[in-house]
Amino acid sequence: MNKAQREFDVVIVGAGFAGLYMLYRARELGLSTVVLEAGGGVGGTWYWNRYPGARCDVESMQYSYQFSDDLEQEWEWTERYAGQPEILRYLEHVADRFDLWPHIQLDTQVTEAMFEDGSGRWSVRTGQRDEFGAQFVIMATGCLSATNVPDFAGAETFRGRTYHTGRWPHEGVDFTGMRVGVIGTGSSGVQSIPVIAQQARDLVVFQRTATYSVPAHNGPLDQSEQTEIKAHYGAFRTANSRMLTAIGERRARTDLSALVVTAEERQAEYEARWRDGGLPFLGAFADLLVDPKANDTAAEFVREQIRAIVRDPRTAERLCPDQVIGCKRMCVDTNYYDTFNLPHVHLVDLRESPIEAITDSGIRTEGGHYELDAIVYATGFDAMTGALSRIDIRGRDGIALREAWAAGPRSYLGLGVAGFPNLFTITGPGSPSVLTNMIVSIEQHVEWIADCIAHLRDHGYEHIEPTADAQASWVEFVNQIADFTLFPTCNSWYLGANVPGKARVFMPYVGFPSYAEKCEEVAGRGYEGFVLEK
Ligand SMILES: Cc1cc2nc3c(=O)[nH]c(=O)nc-3n(C[C@H](O)[C@H](O)[C@H](O)COP(=O)(O)OP(=O)(O)OC[C@H]3O[C@@H](n4cnc5c(N)ncnc54)[C@H](O)[C@@H]3O)c2cc1C
Repeated sequence: MNKAQREFDVVIVGAGFAGLYMLYRARELGLSTVVLEAGGGVGGTWYWNRYPGARCDVESMQYSYQFSDDLEQEWEWTERYAGQPEILRYLEHVADRFDLWPHIQLDTQVTEAMFEDGSGRWSVRTGQRDEFGAQFVIMATGCLSATNVPDFAGAETFRGRTYHTGRWPHEGVDFTGMRVGVIGTGSSGVQSIPVIAQQARDLVVFQRTATYSVPAHNGPLDQSEQTEIKAHYGAFRTANSRMLTAIGERRARTDLSALVVTAEERQAEYEARWRDGGLPFLGAFADLLVDPKANDTAAEFVREQIRAIVRDPRTAERLCPDQVIGCKRMCVDTNYYDTFNLPHVHLVDLRESPIEAITDSGIRTEGGHYELDAIVYATGFDAMTGALSRIDIRGRDGIALREAWAAGPRSYLGLGVAGFPNLFTITGPGSPSVLTNMIVSIEQHVEWIADCIAHLRDHGYEHIEPTADAQASWVEFVNQIADFTLFPTCNSWYLGANVPGKARVFMPYVGFPSYAEKCEEVAGRGYEGFVLEK
């Protein structure tokens, strides 16, 4: 039997960076609020992804909240790129410090959210048979939280242990003495493979697409650097949020094309950025993500590094990507390519010999059978829409979000969906989200939503919803911008290409500053493109 429905102003789904900050702002507005979280703790990404080597690839001093000066000053990051345990501790500290726990219900999987035309309120149901009524529902469900496991024939017959990087056991896994197979060489694979290789007796890496990765040069965070940044944290954050990706760089950006400088100047710039490490490598020249020829100069530079690091020429060639660099999410690594010099680490190129089946004792490809004790699925996520489409969300007249998005997600600003009043999505499709430092994007969305709800209350409005026209124009605009870049040229999860049957649509908006400006303009014009109802 269902329990009695509890009534709130706001139901927030998810207790990661987005859900926690949204709760903080909702409480500041005096709204009765509950956060519903499927996991047994807060932290989202950093609660679930406990695989060896998991860490951020945006530097810690940036990959953190900026809404509280005190929090910014108090918290001491220990590494240039914080590891998963440290980021999780940080988020737990945030929940403690701002007294958020009493408003969070853990171990609660939201299964349905229905807009009731009669009452004009949402009804939210969970797998635990709880029911919540709310004026507003805010999905803080994460862009990378719905795990993706390809449907390999025979997977259920494997007698060894299987793990997904995004659902790693809390007690950790000891691979000592084992024969381990890792499927996937995206960010999670690139981070975990070097660490698993330190334990495993034998490691077989199954690669479908070779990955461009830039060294992290991770290490203890220099105390003087931390002090210096903290002395000017506001200015540091502002400068970073003016970058296309909202990720700051140690090196000044130029507006130059990679093709107007000399070969020596180009090489020197790439070498300097390779020495600095991290994602700003792609900021070397202004046209790397728009001009294929310019892009190829950066791609070839990375391929040269791979050939120089990996001693076996055949393995090196297999590790050399041939797609546009940056078109799939770039990786940031510690010893990734070097790991393939270890005698017990083997690379299987699935483009040469695809996986035929998983057997009771390992993985069979067209080229042979690999005996394994454990399989690690580093196969990523049903990105951006997966967590939303796994909930039965219904708007006006019972229309299902899954159906409304069958041909690809349609949203105005990635914040709201026509036909779904008072439903907000934090970092939804059509917003910069995964192409940015996500904490910057999350904070921008949370603040916009909080201001919007305050506006509705102050002016006596009950409902807000994008118009179908504003939404259609926005979707078209997001695509036009993407088409101007090289992003749509490869099979990336930005396009949904990693999930069979998913509509192929480029989902994120390219360019944080112009996006944030647009959101401000919309709000400044009384929420232009939205219908507000009393
Ligand atoms: C391994 C890894 C490393 C990353 N590193 C970086 C980085 O360096 N820089 C960067 O900018 N981004 C990074 N990201 C992206 C990262 O997801 C975001 O930075 C950020 O943590 C997202 O926060 P969020 O609150 O939006 O979503 P999440 O942290 O994903 O939280 C969403 C929460 O919603 C919950 N949820 C979902 N559906 C339901 C439901 N139906 N019912 C109840 N609860 C539900 C989930 O359990 C989850 O806890 C990384 C992602 C991964 C996976």
